[in-house]
Amino acid sequence: MPFEKLAVMILPREVIGGHGAVEKVGDVFKKLTSSKRGVIVTGNTTRTLAGERVKGILETAGIETSIVQVDYATEENVERVKEHTKNFGAKVLIGIGGGTKIDIAKKSAFDLGLDFISIPTSASHDGVASPRATISKNGLSSSVEAMMPAALIADTEIIVTAPFRFLAAGAADVLSNLPALKDWNLGHKLKGERVSSSAYAISEFAAREIISNASQIKPQVEESVWLVIKQIVFSGIAMSIAGNSRPASGSEHMFAHAVDSMKKGNGLHGELCGIGSIIAMYLHGADWVQIRNTLQTIGAPTTLAQVSLTEDDAIEALMMAHKTRPDRYTILGESGISETAAREALNITGVS
Ligand SMILES: [Zn+2]
Repeated sequence: MPFEKLAVMILPREVIGGHGAVEKVGDVFKKLTSSKRGVIVTGNTTRTLAGERVKGILETAGIETSIVQVDYATEENVERVKEHTKNFGAKVLIGIGGGTKIDIAKKSAFDLGLDFISIPTSASHDGVASPRATISKNGLSSSVEAMMPAALIADTEIIVTAPFRFLAAGAADVLSNLPALKDWNLGHKLKGERVSSSAYAISEFAAREIISNASQIKPQVEESVWLVIKQIVFSGIAMSIAGNSRPASGSEHMFAHAVDSMKKGNGLHGELCGIGSIIAMYLHGADWVQIRNTLQTIGAPTTLAQVSLTEDDAIEALMMAHKTRPDRYTILGESGISETAAREALNITGVS
């Protein structure tokens, strides 16, 4: 048989992390393009926090910039950014914010075929360095293909000012690679799905680093931001190598998506994935205690009460989780888990 394998991996060209990293944005921009125009996509708070500063740095470097202020990651906002970018004649988009602003910028860049610079102001999930975006259309949000950042600038001095809860959630999102990998393996064994061993290894490494360094992840310490953001970058790279989010998203993410769609509780994406990881590892017969202990050490939630969910909410979410992504085979199976099994998982793991 002829060799027919073809892999396409789009990786960031520049990853700059650390204290004052944002000062490098002018140099990074010039390496990406000879064009002298850029559009900054940011929000209300993040504009004050970093948006105006980045604009100033770029303008000092001779790059004309225009800011589009957005709120939610909706298709309308993506269209608005695209229109603005075309009118301004920019060749590079710069997303500055937590999750939604970066999602809008990376989806707009993808649609326009332009480069995108990711400047996260918090590290609450692995989306800051991934080729996927969560965009809502008519009130329903879904994960769509987007542009992998051409450059990622993670300024620890800026990110450390975000509430610690965000960073803990980001660490939990990386930790959820472990159940996701087990699900991927299951998809391989039962459905013949292709597993990329390099993506697998990188994703696993990222999660293991979070476990090894859990006690070092603390509030108001730039070093902690560094520890988490590095692993977020590796998770993003693993997804790029795999060509999908398999290495970082399995049944634990389906649980989080199910809770989101029910609009219950107040858990952040990463927090719900962390709780989902305890349950998913239990279902896999794997070391869920290690996941729970790591989350506790970091200060991320391990119980439903901490994210304002009831046991009934969680049971409902677990029972419908398999439907959130029917094309992705996981430990939840094709028909989902039963009420009895869901309740037992929650009780045994101490999640409820
Ligand atoms: Zn995630």
